[in-house]
Amino acid sequence: LPRRVADKLGIDIPNSADRAGAHRPLHTRSLVKVQDGCNNFCSYCIVPYARGDLWSRPEGEVISEVSRLVAGGTQEVVLTGIHLGLYGAGGSTDLGSLLTRLIDIRGLGRIRLSSIELNEVSPAIVELIVESGKICNHLHIPLQSGSNDVLARMNRHYTAEAFVERTAELKRRIPNLALTTDVIVGFPAETERDFESSARLIETVGFSKLHVFKFSPRKGTPAAGFSDQISNDVKDARSAALLGIGATLAEQFATNYVGKDLSVLVERRQGNYLSGISDNYIRVYFEGPDDIIGTITTVRVTGQEQAMLYGKTGE
Ligand code: SF4
Repeated sequence: LPRRVADKLGIDIPNSADRAGAHRPLHTRSLVKVQDGCNNFCSYCIVPYARGDLWSRPEGEVISEVSRLVAGGTQEVVLTGIHLGLYGAGGSTDLGSLLTRLIDIRGLGRIRLSSIELNEVSPAIVELIVESGKICNHLHIPLQSGSNDVLARMNRHYTAEAFVERTAELKRRIPNLALTTDVIVGFPAETERDFESSARLIETVGFSKLHVFKFSPRKGTPAAGFSDQISNDVKDARSAALLGIGATLAEQFATNYVGKDLSVLVERRQGNYLSGISDNYIRVYFEGPDDIIGTITTVRVTGQEQAMLYGKTGE
């Protein structure tokens, strides 16, 4: 899923990522693939059949790769994987251990996790985010549905109540945390009530960004054969409704930072403004000199337009 991950993260990547050459230097942000494969068998997903067993790059190899990227100007690495939270599964390492070593790389400004399952955000990872100052206060935790009936049919291993409880705890623990997510609408037999449960849960959690997917049957997966497939019209309507909620939530999240300082990785010039992404994943535009492109800088937020923020640097 690297392209999907890159799309989520708003960055362009060249085609044909592979295991060996897993990094893609992208100006100041680089994707580093550390894991592949999944054995979760969500009922709608082809990945476990297509990608096979869990596989993780050795820690030492990842460290060397990231060190080289940092020497080449990378400020932020985005760790990617099909099932990132299972990095190291079956071996002698895990994601917390990898992060601990990455934090020590001199010159690396930030580490971002592309996506992690609810049950895999361990206390050690939370501790590292809070204490290190290097791991972005941004967690992308796939929800998929806010209905327990639908979650069970999806073969997802959590309940809606657990999702709300756990994410609230993460928000309490991690200052200024951005929570983003994936949701599927129109899963077979999803009722209006199921859909409403998803919508209400999304509002309760207060995600700062939603990726909404209309269910599409994948040949060879159990869900493709489920009865009560949902019509495209209903999927379209549910998707549009969630996108509207997502836009409102993104705007509300950004509003919290007007008048405050954000740590921004300066990516490029766009007209009169420099543009970058904050550690908690808000697009920020501000005036400043070109020579800070590629650095992490503090921006005082002075204004907002929908989910985007405007500001100025300290100079
Ligand atoms: S949706 Fe994610 S966790 Fe579920 S089977 Fe697919 S890759 Fe694995």
